[in-house]
Amino acid sequence: MTRHAGSGLANNGVLDARDRAAMLGRLAGERFDVLVIGGGITGAGAALDAASRGLRVALVESRDLASGTSSRSSKLIHGGLRYLEQFDFKLVYEALRERDLLVSKLAPHLVKPISFLYPLQKKVVERPYVGAGLALYDAMEGTRRPVPHHRHLTARRALKLAPALDPARLAGAMLYYDAQVDDARHTLTVARTAAAHSAVVATRVTAVKLTRSPDGKRVTGARVRDEESGRELSVTADSVIVCAGVWTDLVYELAGVRAGYQVRMSKGVHIVVPREAVRASTGMILRTEKSVLFFIPWGQRWIVGTTDTDFSGDRAEPAATEEDIDYILAAANRVLVRPLTRADVIAVYAGLRPLVAAGPKNGAQKNGAKGDKPTTKLSREHVVDVPVPGLASIAGGKFTTYRLMARDVVDAAVADFGDAVPASVTDQLPLLGADGLAAVRAGAGRLAEDYRVSRSLVEHLLGRYGTLAAEVLDEIRADPGLARPLADGHPYLRAEVAYAVTHENALHVEDVLMRRMRLFIESADSGAGVADQVSAIMGRLLGWNRRRRAAETRRYLDLVATEHKVMAPGPVREAALAVSATAG
Ligand SMILES: Cc1cc2nc3c(=O)[nH]c(=O)nc-3n(C[C@H](O)[C@H](O)[C@H](O)COP(=O)(O)OP(=O)(O)OC[C@H]3O[C@@H](n4cnc5c(N)ncnc54)[C@H](O)[C@@H]3O)c2cc1C
Repeated sequence: MTRHAGSGLANNGVLDARDRAAMLGRLAGERFDVLVIGGGITGAGAALDAASRGLRVALVESRDLASGTSSRSSKLIHGGLRYLEQFDFKLVYEALRERDLLVSKLAPHLVKPISFLYPLQKKVVERPYVGAGLALYDAMEGTRRPVPHHRHLTARRALKLAPALDPARLAGAMLYYDAQVDDARHTLTVARTAAAHSAVVATRVTAVKLTRSPDGKRVTGARVRDEESGRELSVTADSVIVCAGVWTDLVYELAGVRAGYQVRMSKGVHIVVPREAVRASTGMILRTEKSVLFFIPWGQRWIVGTTDTDFSGDRAEPAATEEDIDYILAAANRVLVRPLTRADVIAVYAGLRPLVAAGPKNGAQKNGAKGDKPTTKLSREHVVDVPVPGLASIAGGKFTTYRLMARDVVDAAVADFGDAVPASVTDQLPLLGADGLAAVRAGAGRLAEDYRVSRSLVEHLLGRYGTLAAEVLDEIRADPGLARPLADGHPYLRAEVAYAVTHENALHVEDVLMRRMRLFIESADSGAGVADQVSAIMGRLLGWNRRRRAAETRRYLDLVATEHKVMAPGPVREAALAVSATAG
């Protein structure tokens, strides 16, 4: 076995979309210790965990990094207050420690503290109950304490922070802290950090068959299909790790084995509304009949959600329904003095939770919840399964606990490797962009002077790329026209489109507008108005001719049209759509 690929960072984790042929050559030509299937946060985490132990790693993702559930979450790095109520103490404890590690050491540029107001409607009964829960929540934190303790607030004080709340229904409030993240960007950064440790990261490459040793006893790799050309190739690996989220059962079918657990899909929908629609200077959490509803500040927007319902349908693009939107609006309006309406909604997105529904058989490790419980009651703990030698898989869990999930599944995957593999080191490994962040932040003014750009531009880049911001600034230095904003009213720069191609493996317009930047959910026209501009910048780098550029724009506009079917036209959206109709 060819283990211990050597230390030192390879090319700073640059994933250059223009190097696709070389990347596919490595995939087919090298022999890997570990092949990871799935480029969500779990797969990216597993690739990083294995690569940073010195293993030779390849990752294949059938669409784009984070194109599944990992770009469609509530974007919270949290213990999960509601899991305390379900007595899931271990999950909350682990998740809070992960939150603190991410905020303070592993990804301070991406994972940022956020406050939540918890309005109380019944002072006498509710305050001691919620207060005790929050005291326990705070007590479970590690010693680092990168976020403040919770506080009790009077109704008056709460209204100062959130004038949007209806005073008639407010008996007081609690204020507590968690953290938030751009989930797609975090996933990409984990994958890039894996690449910096020599992992081969291949997007738009689908595992179509798992291969076996001549005696059929061991999985030895996979046949994969390059979705851009349709060409198939073989990847050889001592161990295959399946991190396919809600697609897990389909990947098991490729191997001809049954999983030791069952993944149940639960759909969660969020709506996005303008910041002005809800007057509050803090996030908010409301208790609902079945679960909780979050108001999460997101730049100039609020993300409000979520729902939790059983799902069967197209896993690739789960759609929100009118009922989902109405449910969220009704739940939000129970506390708001000015109700939200369908006209306020500028975007909607849906994601699928890969929950473990039936408990471990065939040696699957750890307990998942059992039976036919409603999806709100299913455990968010993860389960690792090793159905045959050379194949390990993981399901369940949360975005917040991806590092622990990755560690556990890699441990299982390498358990029968002949020579000892070092233990996981990811708790000591800051993600790309985190190392030296404090000094770069302190020197933001000088950086702005050096590159002749505004300080706010530098700060915008630091908040998205950390210390790698200098790489984006280098694109601007080479072509000052790239310093211009991409879309009016949004902070993204044209340079970030170029960088998405040259460093972040963006292959299509949707990769840029849906995940490298979040205009798909942040802009009332879902970024349709700038699709042509994005296609032109990408096309220059990727050698697209006019026809190809037009086809790329059209492909994105079709995606937007499908997404918009469910939304009633509001004033903001109508204006934006009118503008974008003249584009592309
Ligand atoms: C609405 C909602 C809100 C949530 N909010 C939070 C939150 O606030 N905080 C939190 O901690 N967690 C949250 N979660 C949970 C969290 O988002 C998920 O647990 C996590 O994103 C799952 O990541 P994953 O990598 O396992 O799956 P995915 O992100 O779905 O990745 C699986 C990948 O496998 C790929 N794939 C499948 N088959 C193949 C194949 N044959 N070949 C190659 N690739 C393949 C898919 O394309 C996909 O990209 C939320 C989930 C939802 C749905």
